[in-house]
Amino acid sequence: MSNYKHLKSPAPPAPANEGQSSSLDVATIVQGVIEDVRSNGDSAVRKYSKQFDRWSPPSFKLSEEQIHKIIATVPEQTIKDIKTVQSNVRAFAEAQKASMKDFEIEIRPGIHLGQKNVPIQNVGCYVPGGRYPLLASAHMTILTAKVAGVPNVIACTPPIAGEIPTATIAAMYYAGADAIYLLGGTQAIAAMALGTETIPKVDFICGPGNAFVATAKAKLYGSIGIDLFAGPTEVLIVADEHASSFTVAVDLLSQAEHGPDTPAVLITTSERLAKEAIAHVEKILTETEMSTSALAGTSWRDYGEVIVVENIDEAYSLADTFASEHVQILTQNPREALDKMKNYGALFLGERTCVSYGDKVIGTNHVLPTKGAARYTGGLCVQKFLKTYTYQEVKSDQASGELGQLCGRAARAERFEGHARSGDRRAQLYLGNKYKW
Ligand code: NAD
Repeated sequence: MSNYKHLKSPAPPAPANEGQSSSLDVATIVQGVIEDVRSNGDSAVRKYSKQFDRWSPPSFKLSEEQIHKIIATVPEQTIKDIKTVQSNVRAFAEAQKASMKDFEIEIRPGIHLGQKNVPIQNVGCYVPGGRYPLLASAHMTILTAKVAGVPNVIACTPPIAGEIPTATIAAMYYAGADAIYLLGGTQAIAAMALGTETIPKVDFICGPGNAFVATAKAKLYGSIGIDLFAGPTEVLIVADEHASSFTVAVDLLSQAEHGPDTPAVLITTSERLAKEAIAHVEKILTETEMSTSALAGTSWRDYGEVIVVENIDEAYSLADTFASEHVQILTQNPREALDKMKNYGALFLGERTCVSYGDKVIGTNHVLPTKGAARYTGGLCVQKFLKTYTYQEVKSDQASGELGQLCGRAARAERFEGHARSGDRRAQLYLGNKYKW
């Protein structure tokens, strides 16, 4: 790290900002809600929905009639746009599905091994919406599950300050949700994971969310499957001296507005560009009328980081240590990042592309790993909804008998006498070996 020059560092760790909860508080709150929902089902769900979202309708589930009434209030252009974006998401997801081939091979004469991809049967999708109506998350979760072939997809989204997020409901409906619940946060995740009197238990939960949602998914993992740790958004830009410092600033802020805890990091080989980008960020925050300036400003102050490195290879290897959710490459040769970088949620190559396209419209999935999870997983995709099962069949007597002899020896090397005898039995049946049982 010694050669790196920090032109802007994140603020030192401070007690949680006003209105925010520390990670310890979040874990305690989430655990309490989960246990209550486990013991008391719907009544606990209702209690927390009232407490956290001021929301307690007669039923959290929207009827078909309610859904159609809600959709009728959504502007026509918004519906058209939802359908266009969903066709992009569908096209990419279908290509992913096509790449998942079942296969069977004969690895030795008579020994046939196969692999089959079977969709999870019951999936719960979380479409976040505490702060913004994140309708794009409906395409990313529900539609991708449907393309994977999941027969039963239920979906939850919270009301926003007591209001129904109408465009989100439309997106959920057109994405193909089998049931839609207006419910958010830990209570939604716990209800789908544990099941209540009115909300069916699912096998797998996917979708992004704030710290409460991400922590709830992590705590419930095991009894249900989860897609990945997709918590508060992050962005990292790698730029060289050819990049526009103004574009860099605009793109850093495009993500900083997600929430007050959004790391927005610039790693650059150019000190000039770094200084200009910082100045542009400050100017945009203070002098332009960006409605989300306050939130983006808090993120930038507390989590913004600008680092100057000596060369582009250093930039890539430092970027890899962040394993950021979104990595944008604004350099002369952006495609080289495809070979050089190993840890990221999604890569955005060159100035014609931007993270906002990935978030909202382009068609790749925007549910992506955060907090370093990109070291071990990519983002949500069709594959996450498929269980890759194996099967085997031995089709010749000779092969089975020989495997039986091998199995007898291999199992006894591990002192598994019962396993060994299953092998012995085949050797006896098909090769006529004599055994004293
Ligand atoms: P959200 O739907 O994730 O969370 C809202 C819910 O949080 C509310 O319904 C409420 O029940 C609960 N909540 C809020 N404050 C609480 C408190 N003090 N105690 C208990 N529960 C509380 O919506 P959001 O808050 O707008 O967050 C969306 C998040 O999703 C953002 O952080 C965004 O960055 C992230 N995101 C991540 C990805 C990804 O792929 N990683 C993609 C899109 C969005």
